[in-house]
Amino acid sequence: MEQKIITIRMPAYDQFSIRKEVLGNQKKDGSKRAAIVAGIHGDEFEGLYTCYLLNGYLKNLLKKNPEALQGQVDFYPSINSLGLGSLNRAWPFFNVDLNRQFPGNRDGHVPLQAAYALLEDLKGADFVVDIHASNRFLLEMPQIRMQDTYASTLLPLAQNSNVDIVWVHGSSTILETTLATNLNEMAIPTLVVEMGIGQRLTIGYSEQLLKGLLRLLHRFGILDIPAEELPTINEPRIMQDNEVWYFNAKASGLFVPEPAIFGRYVREKERIGRIVDPLSGKDLQVIEAPVEGLVFTLRQHPVVYEGSLLARLTYPTKTTTGGEEDA
Ligand SMILES: [Zn+2]
Repeated sequence: MEQKIITIRMPAYDQFSIRKEVLGNQKKDGSKRAAIVAGIHGDEFEGLYTCYLLNGYLKNLLKKNPEALQGQVDFYPSINSLGLGSLNRAWPFFNVDLNRQFPGNRDGHVPLQAAYALLEDLKGADFVVDIHASNRFLLEMPQIRMQDTYASTLLPLAQNSNVDIVWVHGSSTILETTLATNLNEMAIPTLVVEMGIGQRLTIGYSEQLLKGLLRLLHRFGILDIPAEELPTINEPRIMQDNEVWYFNAKASGLFVPEPAIFGRYVREKERIGRIVDPLSGKDLQVIEAPVEGLVFTLRQHPVVYEGSLLARLTYPTKTTTGGEEDA
C-alpha cells in the first residue's frame, strides 16, 4: 500500500510528495516493523535498487505463502526525490544536505519539514536500514558504518547484513544531525550502509545487501520462513578507525589507479596508483601500500587536487589519520 509521508506545495501550484510503500501489517500481536530508507542523497541509487529487489522478493513470496510476512516492512526508496529527478545530491533550490537536517522542524524550510516528517514516520519502527552510496568520486565496498556508542546494539545486526566491512568509528559532532544518529538516540536501531558510488548503480551490491536484509527480517521475526531457505551470507570484516589507512593526494593532477586494485588485498609496497602530470609527462606521486591490506575505497574520478582522498585500506595498526567522510 502506497502512502505519502509529506506533501509539499510547489511554487507554481503543483504538489510534490515523499512516498513510502507498506508491506504487511504490524498490528498482529507483538509483530515487528522494519524500514528501508534510501535516496536521502539524490545522486545515490544503490538503495533505490535494493528497495526494488526486496519489495519484489517479498511480494512474490507472499503470493506463494501469505503467512511468510509476520510483521511490516516499510520502503522509503527516494526521500530526496526532487534531487534524484534533477541530478542533485543535495535538496535542490535550498542546496542543503538532507542528512544534516535531522531532527528537522515542522515549521522550518522545506528540507527541514521533510526531515521532520521522515523521523516522525519512522517512530515505532523496530529497526531501520538507511542505504547510501558514496559520493560521485569514491567507490566503496559494501560496508556498514556505526558510531562506537551504538555498537553494542548495532554490531550483532551488522554482522548479519552480508556487507564486506563493518566500520566502528568514534563519535563525531557532524553526525548529530544525521537520520541514523537521531534514530539511534531514540533507541531505534539504525544501520547505515555505504556501497557503490554516486551517480552510478552497482547492481551486484544491491543484490548482496538483499541477502542480508532477508536475514535481518528473519532475525526480527518479520520474515517467517524456514532458516534453511535463507540465503547464505558472509561475515564482515570488523574494523576500528585505527585500522584504516587513508591515501591522500600529495599533488594535483590525474589519478590513475592500477587495474583491478579495488576490493582486493594488496601486498606491502604494491602500487595502488599514480598521480600523473599530462603537461610534463611525469608521475607526480606513486601511491604504494604501506602494508598488506584490503583496498575498500578507491577514487573513480580522476581529477584530484592536493589533499583529495584517493583510496582507503584496512590497516591493522594503531596509526590513525584524518580523511573525508560520507554518511
Ligand atoms: Zn549518502
